[in-house]
Amino acid sequence: MIERLDANHLSSEAGTYCLWLRLDAPLPLVVGRLGERTLPPGLVAYVGSALGPGGLRARVGRHLRAEKRLRWHIDWLTAQAPVCAVWLRTGRLRLECEWSAVLRRLPGAAIAWPGFGASDCACAAHLIAVPPEALAEARIALAPDAIFGELDGYDR
Ligand SMILES: [Zn+2]
Repeated sequence: MIERLDANHLSSEAGTYCLWLRLDAPLPLVVGRLGERTLPPGLVAYVGSALGPGGLRARVGRHLRAEKRLRWHIDWLTAQAPVCAVWLRTGRLRLECEWSAVLRRLPGAAIAWPGFGASDCACAAHLIAVPPEALAEARIALAPDAIFGELDGYDR
């Protein structure tokens, strides 16, 4: 069982984040209006931006909690599976669409669920399945300025 990360150490500045979830078994989900799908085991990344009050601490803190009113697509996923790592970049630039495009271009990466997290933009999805072999390249490409948690055996 993965312990949930503590949001208290996160910056309250605005920024962009990438949540990493490790699915150890197939995870059947029903997500709002998206419908249902079973996510395969492996690593999935979800990207978003926190430009509102409370910044990254407030937004990512919500993602780290299991109990919440289910509102965004990601809420259904984080209610079922804990976030095991968070990559952050502070700043007022909304980088989430750029980050999702970068992740999708990684070797072996794939859209985890078409439309997921991309209701308000033109991206195919903001939920990307990333093979562990591509993690090092992902980290270089996204260049997070803070990292919380770990990806255990997936880290290299
Ligand atoms: Zn987008």
